[in-house]
Amino acid sequence: MKKRYVQFIVFIAVVVVIVLLSGFSFTSMWKDPPIVPGPGVTEIKMLSDWLPSLAGTKSDTEVYIIRGSQPGGNLLLLGGNHPNEPGGMLAAVLMIENVSSLVGTVYIIPRANHSAFTHNDPMEGAPQFFSIELPEGSKRTFRFGSRRTNPVSQWPDPTIYNHPTGSTLGGSEISNLNRAFPGREDGLITERVAAAIMNIVKQEKIDLVCDLHESSPEYPVNNAIVFHQKAAELAIMTQMMLEMEGVNIRLEESPPSLRGLTHREIGDNSDAYVVLLEVANPSQGRLRGKTTEELVTTGVDKYYLQASKDGKLFAPYDETGYPLELRVARHVTTVRVLLDSWNMMFPDRMIMLSDVPAYNAILSDGLGAFLKPVS
Ligand SMILES: [Zn+2]
Repeated sequence: MKKRYVQFIVFIAVVVVIVLLSGFSFTSMWKDPPIVPGPGVTEIKMLSDWLPSLAGTKSDTEVYIIRGSQPGGNLLLLGGNHPNEPGGMLAAVLMIENVSSLVGTVYIIPRANHSAFTHNDPMEGAPQFFSIELPEGSKRTFRFGSRRTNPVSQWPDPTIYNHPTGSTLGGSEISNLNRAFPGREDGLITERVAAAIMNIVKQEKIDLVCDLHESSPEYPVNNAIVFHQKAAELAIMTQMMLEMEGVNIRLEESPPSLRGLTHREIGDNSDAYVVLLEVANPSQGRLRGKTTEELVTTGVDKYYLQASKDGKLFAPYDETGYPLELRVARHVTTVRVLLDSWNMMFPDRMIMLSDVPAYNAILSDGLGAFLKPVS
């Protein structure tokens, strides 16, 4: 009897320890890794400034504003629409920490689906964090999040998602921010985030929206500009100018029947020109092996190497993997060239930036050279 009593106490103690450790691990993801605003940042607002019902929720998030000394056009840059695609979030962070504006204003939301940064995709075995070393020896740590909003913020999903455009989507897509546009101000939290971003586009008279993503190397739409039909000429000109710099990128027109995505819904529901950028990310693909922090940052994976040898991939891939600095360099450079193209087409709505990190410098010096130490 006494032995069973001891076993019971030990069992309860082990359960309490496991629950406490899991709880601390889970809630550690609720704290935002710092972003250090660079000299070009003139204001930091919150998404709830454009939709007050988001205030106090895990979906409220910073909007960094880089206002130029001269008025011009307005750019909205979205990172972290899908937090399991770290290249998009980091490209946005690099812009915030380095770039200034000479003409026009840039609004940057690096963690667009903030709630989705506070957990991981179930059953994917992804790391919670990854780090980048800075030249002076310190590290910057970032969250590797989920494609979908945290169920703590929004649960349960409906069986069928009745999209505001009248089409129907699978129920779980209501927690995928990039299916929730143009959003509903009184909808579930993911729809409200989309509605708040739409409010920014309309109230701040955004001319150009660029949404930064990553996709798996076996998916045909990677290393690509996906463009709303209004932005076709802009995308073609950007592709030609990127090719001249030795950066190959393909073009994909946004399909009219694919609802809820930024390039479709912001393009249809505002005057803005909208593009979405994709680069290849082996850490989110289905062919990958163990999903480690190293895979997130280097993209080196023996199964992807074999798939590449077998001709199964849509991205160039060899022993060097697909490192995060290459993915971020592609995004940052595409944004710079996109703006060069924009300024040629719309000189009365010019957006001119300075100190945009250069492609070769990101590759040779690493991402750490463009991130600020956290004091
Ligand atoms: Zn994505």
